[in-house]
Amino acid sequence: MAQKSNFEEIFSFLHGKFSNETEYLQAVHEVLEDIVPVYNANEQYKALDIVRRISMPERVIYFTVSWMNSEGRIEINQGWRVQHNSAMGPYKGGLRFHPTVNLSVLKFLAFEQCFKNALTGLPMGGGKGGSDFNPKGRTDRDIMLFCQAFMRELQRHIGANTDVPAGDINVGAREIGYLYGEYRRLNNKFEGVLTGKGLEFGGSYVRTEATGFGLIYFLEAVCKHRGSKIEGQTIVVSGAGNVALHAALKAVEKGGKVISLSNSRGLLLNEDGLTDTALKWAIDNHANRNNILADMADEDMGKWLPDKKPWHLKCDIALPCATQNELLEEDANTLLDSGCQMVLEGANMPCTNEAQARFLDVKIVYVPGKASNAGGVALSGLEMSQNAMFNQRDASTLDEQLYSIMESIHQRCLDEGKANDGDTKYVNYLKGANIAAFRRLADAMVAQGV
Ligand code: GLU
Repeated sequence: MAQKSNFEEIFSFLHGKFSNETEYLQAVHEVLEDIVPVYNANEQYKALDIVRRISMPERVIYFTVSWMNSEGRIEINQGWRVQHNSAMGPYKGGLRFHPTVNLSVLKFLAFEQCFKNALTGLPMGGGKGGSDFNPKGRTDRDIMLFCQAFMRELQRHIGANTDVPAGDINVGAREIGYLYGEYRRLNNKFEGVLTGKGLEFGGSYVRTEATGFGLIYFLEAVCKHRGSKIEGQTIVVSGAGNVALHAALKAVEKGGKVISLSNSRGLLLNEDGLTDTALKWAIDNHANRNNILADMADEDMGKWLPDKKPWHLKCDIALPCATQNELLEEDANTLLDSGCQMVLEGANMPCTNEAQARFLDVKIVYVPGKASNAGGVALSGLEMSQNAMFNQRDASTLDEQLYSIMESIHQRCLDEGKANDGDTKYVNYLKGANIAAFRRLADAMVAQGV
């Protein structure tokens, strides 16, 4: 029998079960508003209760990581892998090591990942994992010991055709190397079970750059659609990690003026625009510095402003590339007051629901991370296919593929994101991304039965 359904009913079902998982409920809320009407218009979706099933993870794995650090002391951390949906391919999504990691954060990330992966058009399901371990200030040896202990637990749940983790915050090439080594030793298998690997052992060219570069390729598609250009525009970037730095570099290459980077301790400001030399230096050095932005200021690459966020800066384009919920309603108002025209998310869910609502209300360009930061996982999909064929494609071929995937995600958002209020020019990228991803995912689930 078809399920009676509306937004409140489904949301209150999830709220009743998971009321303390605020980030997860926030991410689901953001999607449900757009997809429930599509669901209600489709008898098959309703008959198979697709929306509730899409909202809940297929499996959540929890484990304790007990490990002995390099001083011989026992440390205990929590570890998770959320295997959200496998209708479109092996579970796929990163691992995050950060003290703020908990089940709610990983469930939101895994849920978003399914939609993001669906938008890439590649055969990948969605998942996410990680630990509350804080790698900041730890020795290389402790990082290796932790990664090995984490993988001793995780390895029994993953595989090249089952679940393929990658990096996320604080999990980069070094951590993936240690995790991969432990998997290989325990399983006696050299397979594409992780992405983001080193180029010497199954990694792919362009994977490191892909999320940040992909964000700017998406921005270019938006500009082209509006008849404008990146060249000459003032751009504010938050964050100072892999995504932020590569986005800033590509934006500068396209002629944009990038005036900021930031981290949890403050802001690097350069009103004349950061140079590509400065950004390349930061890319080469950020992994082994405690505060790369303060170091950049010491090298005369900008001014270091402690405890400041970048949203008060006057700009045409804002690219939040740090972390979830970093851009609040008041920040959205400040950006709008100073004339910001576009907000494209490089991080996952950096804008709160209230900030998003402001951007949608005034109809500036607002692109959710599931569309604009999908370049990273898209390149992971290409790494998986190279691993399956035991080959390695060259950098320029992969960069072209990344470009065309970002263009096609932009097109999918256009197809589903047109306004229904008679405004032919406005594109609601959030609605477009949510609906386009939902249809692919829902159709895959319908085709495979219950
Ligand atoms: N952590 C990245 C993301 O948020 C990449 C995931 C992957 O490559 O599997 O999309």
